[in-house]
Amino acid sequence: MPIFDTHCHYNLDPILGEWQTQWHLAQKNDITHTTIVGTDIQTSKQALSIAKNSKNLFASIGYHPGTFEEHAPDFVEGQTVYSERINTELKLIKNELLEMVSTGQPIAIGEIGLDYYRLRSKGLKREVLSDLQKKAFKLQLEIAAAHNLPVILHVRDQAERTHSNAYLEVLEIIKQTTPKKFVLHCVSGPLSYITAALELGAYIGFDGNITYPQAKHIREIFSITPTDKILLETDAPYLAPELHRGKICEPWMITETAKYLEGELKTDLAQIYHNSFSFFDINNNARIKQYG
Ligand SMILES: [Zn+2]
Repeated sequence: MPIFDTHCHYNLDPILGEWQTQWHLAQKNDITHTTIVGTDIQTSKQALSIAKNSKNLFASIGYHPGTFEEHAPDFVEGQTVYSERINTELKLIKNELLEMVSTGQPIAIGEIGLDYYRLRSKGLKREVLSDLQKKAFKLQLEIAAAHNLPVILHVRDQAERTHSNAYLEVLEIIKQTTPKKFVLHCVSGPLSYITAALELGAYIGFDGNITYPQAKHIREIFSITPTDKILLETDAPYLAPELHRGKICEPWMITETAKYLEGELKTDLAQIYHNSFSFFDINNNARIKQYG
């Protein structure tokens, strides 16, 4: 059964250094198409550059919310907020992404969203960084809406936080911006949020972690997702499926996740394959005929 990997990081270490070998191996395992997803300006450019090598490789560009956490000391230190640096960074992100979009190559904007999982510390730092994430998220959603591109969402928060959490805030922002299409990549979060997102037309992305014995909640989300809204992702080099857990996730390992969905969860892989082309607006038949 052919597989479309809708979320993969050939643009990140350690896969970046051997992406040709990995893409070759993936194709031998029936992975016909892949979307390479950017996490900041540099990795978005890398995604575009790799995707140029094959008509079946696509690139999505965006600035991941977790990136701000990595650069936190650039923006806030103790009680000092460097507003000018924040504004400069946001302008830079916008200009760089617009320039990439203008080439016509990116097929989606992402991965973007809100990630409060690591913003555990209370007080100023948390507030400044979550505000920065929201600003960057909104400006990227506006780019997606203006250019009619689907959006790949990364949303993560601590399960126990039920009020003013990343999940609810993402839904509120999505409602205001109405992107053409969006996927909850590597889905997590309360069922009420999933249901609300599905009502807004969300696609849901499932990864290797659905195969983990303790991942009952993800399987519950799977069970309430209409089959025509399911997308399959590796998120390689992260989230190797159960059989390879603890190792670097290599793109071909998506076949294990696909087998699990078909065997254990009795889903229709042909439908999921078809969904990927619809989500990214790729002319299914023509491409399969040409390259399949
Ligand atoms: Zn990712």
